[in-house]
Amino acid sequence: MDPFNRDDVVLLRPQTLDEFIGQDAVKRKLSIALNASKMRGEPLDHILLVGSPGLGKTTLSQIIANEMGVQIHITSGPVLERQGDLASILTSFEKDDVLFIDEIHRISRPVEELLYAAVEDFQIDIMIGKGAGARSVRIPLQPFTLIGATTRAGLLTSPLRSRFGMILELTFYSAEELSKIVTKAALKLGIGVEKEAALEIGKRSRGTPRIALRLLKRSRDVATVEKKNVIDLETVEKTMRILEIDELGLDSTDRRILKSIIEIYGGGPVGLNALAATLGMEPDTISEVYEPYLLQAGLLSRTSRGRVATEKAYQHLGYEKQEKLF
Ligand code: ADP
Repeated sequence: MDPFNRDDVVLLRPQTLDEFIGQDAVKRKLSIALNASKMRGEPLDHILLVGSPGLGKTTLSQIIANEMGVQIHITSGPVLERQGDLASILTSFEKDDVLFIDEIHRISRPVEELLYAAVEDFQIDIMIGKGAGARSVRIPLQPFTLIGATTRAGLLTSPLRSRFGMILELTFYSAEELSKIVTKAALKLGIGVEKEAALEIGKRSRGTPRIALRLLKRSRDVATVEKKNVIDLETVEKTMRILEIDELGLDSTDRRILKSIIEIYGGGPVGLNALAATLGMEPDTISEVYEPYLLQAGLLSRTSRGRVATEKAYQHLGYEKQEKLF
């Protein structure tokens, strides 16, 4: 969870597409779609945002609503259990509002079915009453834009996926992009950060703005305690030692995952469920939260028979050269 207090979260959130750093391909596509729909006076097509937690899916949705000059209503898949939950949100909309559903792959089946009619025809049929007296009532809706967020497009059923006019994939950020985000955020928080310090935070943030901002705040704590008014490289390095974050940005859980594969499963391949049981973790947490960055960093690879620790993982964790050949 983001440990920021609410004021900081609001303060640090970019408000316009121009202020949103990185993700150039996504921004280009969005910018065209936004301009076209504004020129036609129509709501924006439904959008699916795909990417790991903390890459900016919620932020982008807020920017989209902002740029369209409409309200955004934020909810999440697990919260939408019953059709009535969705119906009561949709019927409160003004024309062209945005509905943001985080973790959209986790909505219940009945809600998903209601959503189909809502996004296609801007109307829903809901059952009123129970038993013999039950009847279906058609409710017209204001046109709206659905923005769904998920970690992998493949987690959605294909009928739901096909309802989106645009599927935009957010990728991990470079250390330079993250250092820009950190520098801007430091300015807003009223603390200085040296260039190398911001870059070091960028390098250790697993390509993720949410983590970069968290590490900035923790570095600010260390600077405050040491009575420094600028965060320098030494402050960042000290903060990372305290947080047990290594040069590649891995935390103790990342290292535990890799070490289990190497020590218990001889480097792999190991199936996700076996690995999760060994670590006492949920398989979804491993595959959705930890694995994407380990794959991207080249420390882990996924084969048809399971997860494999790479040569780079052996070297990084200080093990002897990998003897097994795959
Ligand atoms: P997600 O919805 O993908 O989990 P969020 O939109 O909540 O991610 O973003 C996490 C944090 O990172 C927020 O505080 C947000 O303001 C910040 N952030 C995300 N992307 C950017 C970006 N491109 N530029 C600046 N700040 C960003």
